[in-house]
Amino acid sequence: ANPIRIGVVGYGNLGRGVENAVAKNPDMVVAGIYTRRDPAQLKPLFEGTPVFSMADLDSHADRIDVLVLCGGSKDDLPVQSLALAAKFCIVDSFDTHARIPEHFAAVDAAAQAGQTTALISAGWDPGMFSINRIMGEALLPDGATYTFWGKGLSQGHSDAIRRIPGVAGGVQYTIPVEAAVEAVRSGTRPALTTRQKHERHCYVVLAEGADAETVRQAIVTMPHYFDEYDTTVNFISAEELKEQHSAMPHGGFVIRSGNTTEQNKQVIEYRLQLDSNPEFTSSVLVAYARAVHRMKQCGMTGAKTVFDVAPGWLSPKSAEQLRKEAL
Ligand code: NDP
Repeated sequence: ANPIRIGVVGYGNLGRGVENAVAKNPDMVVAGIYTRRDPAQLKPLFEGTPVFSMADLDSHADRIDVLVLCGGSKDDLPVQSLALAAKFCIVDSFDTHARIPEHFAAVDAAAQAGQTTALISAGWDPGMFSINRIMGEALLPDGATYTFWGKGLSQGHSDAIRRIPGVAGGVQYTIPVEAAVEAVRSGTRPALTTRQKHERHCYVVLAEGADAETVRQAIVTMPHYFDEYDTTVNFISAEELKEQHSAMPHGGFVIRSGNTTEQNKQVIEYRLQLDSNPEFTSSVLVAYARAVHRMKQCGMTGAKTVFDVAPGWLSPKSAEQLRKEAL
């Protein structure tokens, strides 16, 4: 069979991750990277991966099976997903949870009109965690679901720190509180407050002349981001920030605990421990691109989410092979 031809839209962390992930899937190739910047200035991971301008995409429809959209959720995807779904099958990682219904509706209209298949909000949260939440609820209706994030670098909270006057650089890690995770694992269904579930650890480089205590206060009292959490602030040098805090680890747990009878507790746990959040997210997007290609071939068009995709479609193996090897 011909390899599935993937177009990568946007070349940031996820864009590089998709190029890397496709190389691990022999049934796929990167047909091109498409960027809004000058393509001549971008250096792909692999020599030979073609880089084009976004303006070229329109005339490349016959070279591409699925576009993987790697733009940011805040400003890029609300524009790019709709525009591109009108003509291409797409996968995106839109992760602004509260706005997923409206994003779905807008992308669905474009995909219906263009008879394309458009999978939105793939990745790990939303994505793999979402699947595990609904599985837990469906299998154990008498129960409670808990999501813990971390240890992980939170981009949004790191950005919030960096906007504080007197801060020259910084990162923030979200850390699940071990005692809370253990309580949930015990199956006792504890009621946990925000503060009891996660801690926030900040590593901050002070700007010249800035006062450490003033900066610390500004961080720990910041509404929504930090005030509801136990937050620790560590001041470090610019060198240490670069050397120790440049990776993007993340992960977490989805735990469902429930009872099938009064005496019998059942606990389900799904865990991710990721050295690189974007490389893992991209690996998920690429597996879903394979499913999207198959769904399009079966005539299943319109917007979809991970809830609409059968697990077998993610695998490069045939249904027959999977029945024999994996059941
Ligand atoms: P980046 O900021 O690295 O990239 C976003 C876009 O910005 C790129 O597509 C690129 O577009 C542009 N860009 C990248 N680098 C530069 C640069 N140096 N200068 C100018 N422009 C640049 O974002 P990420 O790849 O880290 O994340 C993308 C989105 O993925 C996030 O917004 C997040 O919402 C989502 N995500 C979802 C997850 C999930 O589990 N569902 C998990 C992780 C992330 P162009 O090439 O066109 O300029």
